Amino acid sequence: MTATPPDGDASTPDRETTTAPDTDSRFDVPLRGVAVDPETRCAHWDAPVDVVALRFGCCEAYYPCDACHDAAADHEAVPWPRERFDDPAVLCGACGTTLTAREYLAADDDACPACGAAFNPGCRKHRDRYFEMGGTVDGDGDGDL
Ligand SMILES: [Zn+2]
Ligand SMILES: [Zn+2]
Ligand SMILES: [Zn+2]
Repeated sequence: MTATPPDGDASTPDRETTTAPDTDSRFDVPLRGVAVDPETRCAHWDAPVDVVALRFGCCEAYYPCDACHDAAADHEAVPWPRERFDDPAVLCGACGTTLTAREYLAADDDACPACGAAFNPGCRKHRDRYFEMGGTVDGDGDGDL
């Protein structure tokens, strides 16, 4: 067994809470959140498939969810802007690969194209919190909410 880190304040030692302007040093991208585990699960979304962190347009940092953003940042969350859908905006917590918003939104099977980790299909329901949808998305004929 490994030793519990001295700053472990949650019941599980591999959880870290990071607030702005600090970022979580375990990740290659700027990332913050509440009780974040090494695969970007958080205090709010903690299922095996909750391994996605999303980048916000306001501060360009990644957060496991919008509640993490609101807890870690001191401003209102702004979804990732449409004109930057070809920039990296989604982090797979399982393998550390970043996807562009377009790649993530086009993935019909809700899985990481790099490592195959399953993503939470329920995230589709609140994509508008994370991505500026505004109109029709290229190639997405869903039409649902
Ligand atoms: Zn922000
Ligand atoms: Zn969260
Ligand atoms: Zn992956």
